[in-house]
Amino acid sequence: MDDEVTPIRKQYLDIKKNYPKAIVFFRLGDFYETFDEDAEITSRELDLVLTARKVSKTAKVPMAGIPYHAVDNYLARLIDKGYHVAIAEQVGEQPDKGLFEREVVRVVTPGTVIEPVLLKSDANNYLAAAVETPKGIGIAYADITTGEFFASVIRAENNSGAFTAELTRLHPAEILISDKNTIEIPAAFSVTTVPNAIFDPTRCAEILCKILDVPTLDSFGFSAGSPAIQAAGAIARYLDANQPTTLKLLTRLNAYSLDDFMTLDVSTRRNLELTETLRSNDPKGSLLGVLDTTVTPMGKRAIRQWVSKPLTDIARIRQRLDAVDIFVANGVRRAEIRAAMKPLNDLERLINRVTGGMAIPRDLISLQNSLDALPEIIALLPEDLPILGRLHESARIREMLHDTISPDSPATLMTSGVIRRGYSAELDEVYNNSEYARDWMANLEKVERERTGLRTLKVSYNKVFGYYIEISKSLAAAAPPEYIRKQTLVNAERFITPEMKEYEALVLNAEDSIRSIENRLFYQLCDEIGRESAEILETARGLATLDVLTALAESAALNKYVKPEINESAEIEIKGGRHPVVELTMKSGERFIPNDIRFTETEQIHVVTGPNMSGKSTYLRQTAIILLMAQMGSFVPADSAKIGIVDRIFTRIGAQDEIHAGLSTFMVEMVETANILNNATPRSFLILDEIGRGTSTYDGLSIAWSVVEFIHNAPHLRSRTLFATHYHELTKLAETLPNLKNYNVAVSDHDGTVVFLHKIIPGAADRSYGIHVGQIAGLPKPVINRANEILSRLEAEGNSPAKVREEPLIQMALFPETNPIVDALEKVDVNAISPIEAINLLYEWKSRFGR
Ligand code: ATP
Repeated sequence: MDDEVTPIRKQYLDIKKNYPKAIVFFRLGDFYETFDEDAEITSRELDLVLTARKVSKTAKVPMAGIPYHAVDNYLARLIDKGYHVAIAEQVGEQPDKGLFEREVVRVVTPGTVIEPVLLKSDANNYLAAAVETPKGIGIAYADITTGEFFASVIRAENNSGAFTAELTRLHPAEILISDKNTIEIPAAFSVTTVPNAIFDPTRCAEILCKILDVPTLDSFGFSAGSPAIQAAGAIARYLDANQPTTLKLLTRLNAYSLDDFMTLDVSTRRNLELTETLRSNDPKGSLLGVLDTTVTPMGKRAIRQWVSKPLTDIARIRQRLDAVDIFVANGVRRAEIRAAMKPLNDLERLINRVTGGMAIPRDLISLQNSLDALPEIIALLPEDLPILGRLHESARIREMLHDTISPDSPATLMTSGVIRRGYSAELDEVYNNSEYARDWMANLEKVERERTGLRTLKVSYNKVFGYYIEISKSLAAAAPPEYIRKQTLVNAERFITPEMKEYEALVLNAEDSIRSIENRLFYQLCDEIGRESAEILETARGLATLDVLTALAESAALNKYVKPEINESAEIEIKGGRHPVVELTMKSGERFIPNDIRFTETEQIHVVTGPNMSGKSTYLRQTAIILLMAQMGSFVPADSAKIGIVDRIFTRIGAQDEIHAGLSTFMVEMVETANILNNATPRSFLILDEIGRGTSTYDGLSIAWSVVEFIHNAPHLRSRTLFATHYHELTKLAETLPNLKNYNVAVSDHDGTVVFLHKIIPGAADRSYGIHVGQIAGLPKPVINRANEILSRLEAEGNSPAKVREEPLIQMALFPETNPIVDALEKVDVNAISPIEAINLLYEWKSRFGR
């Protein structure tokens, strides 16, 4: 055929057909090239020049190339935009004839990146998988950069909310689901649909047994056929196909249960601003932002996990609190340990790169620096902190690193000089020989001139012959017999000798041999270290915990937190509680007012009334946050706190329009309320802020009323509840519901000067001061006056908002030009009106418009 495609095009198409959904980076010398539609995408997304390449005698296709040394940066941008990239490398030796072989060595996806530039150091990068089965939803997640691998089953009865909540907690970079599965994943997540066969239970169990090196998975706490195994197996099979070298990092699979942690649904995590703020999605201004004073990357990841996963097991919580207590009590020791931990690099990710065969010399230098810091840290540790596990000094590995890696090693293996001189006799010999050979070659001209007496003899080098001896034509005949003639020029003859060629080989090959020996020694060292990786990983995780504990102690000391007492009861007693974030944002001269709260057997629901802007929401949130901090193992912003363990916190606060696009504010409110009533338990803690506000007054009031009654009375609920409302009618519930108590926020109102005291006191609020807040906010004066007028009238007529709608004669006096007095005045013909009529008119106006 005339227009046959070139062999390289054929090779490309063969590869591309196996990766239809990924962008293929096809290695051509110093570039990764992309073709066809891939080229159009890359050139558009990465601002690269789109060129064309001939693929047959007549046809050309679009092409865009990326220099191989800058690939990480470009990869990062494509992955960030949600693309998958298959990297096809040249493999094997350069063939004498024809093409390099090429094969896809890895497919980079958001959940499988390993390049440090593509990863955030303060957060895990999880690859998750989920599968819905009649037995529940199997969910698993792995971070291939740290080796964490977890799986669980979310039971069928409460799976939809719990599943979404779990996804929100994990925030996976990528979620695998089957193309046959109906499981619903919220739009915010990056989903990769894989063939259903990836979740095949038998194959999944097989691969897990293989990588975990066990005959059965029973010891991991999974029953045969568990959907957790399918999800975990799918992750393993996906990695096997896309990033096979990383599989060996997953050496443990941890079964976990959602019951081990406090359940926090999606809106609660957002409303309480645990790891990021509602407004800017930034940790600054969130609870994490206040608590995170960690000094190492693994500590940063760990504290994020602690904040996202408060515990429910009292013994574990106490273990954490006791450890924090030790470091609160001993500030000097805390400061010393934190200073000693500062030089630590990301030991967890480093050791995983070494084990996975992805390390470069720079990583080993970082590893060495980190291991060097260990003896000091370990010496500073207080005795008896079982929570840390074991911290090993790994002295043997440290020594090996010192002995092997040159202190001036280059960052990568591309240049020689990685291995310390004196470490390997073989390497030293090559160095010595090459230096000797260089000297020998440099002296050759002098030596041979003297030996042969040929004054015109020269030693030179060119690319074709390498080193050679040149003798001018007139003297060439006198060349010694061992000289081998190589080339005849017009004026000279060129020779070589076998000895010279040997030295030449030593000189020319030295760099290559050094690099290849260094490569071998480097990977041998990595293997040696890899053998002790479990120990180093244990140390890395212990250090992460130590970093979190000392950071929590640091925040506790800085912000004057106290150790909470955690118990089995259903009671809560917080004295002088504060909001950990709001208290830090007070302007100078302002003071955060602490508040108490108490829940007992007979005091289960608090109805909090009070003016807008008086601090109700802050009070509600701070209570939830204090519970949550206590159960994550942190000290709390209060004078004292006794907390009966909480299994779930639910919040219904404000509108969440942006995350529930398509639903009205009221609908969202009702969906969330339904979720709470269906899933809360007697151990749960609920905060409900102004339920029913999104609809008409009577509807809203009636719903709020019945919700409170239900929580109070339904035996499966009776949850501890904080209920803030503007419906003063609800305070009447205290007359019929014995475990409901009214509270309000104190206001000082002296001669019309209103000051919100932010103090929660028993009893119902008498006024709401909404108009006062409107005034502070800058509503026009006529509006404020008119609002006050309507309010007085309504209050006088029995406090019924419905009456407003029955008021036919009142028009709003928004602006002076529409003022009803002005309007009425204008209608009066002064010349035609009698004095009596004028007086009557004045009386009427006084009664209509007067104060
Ligand atoms: P609304 O009903 O309008 O939502 P609210 O009663 O819930 O208002 P918050 O939003 O909790 O009021 O608080 C309003 C402001 O009052 C906060 O921004 C904060 O600056 C201040 N504030 C709240 N609680 C306290 C406190 N305990 N001490 C000092 N200032 C406080």
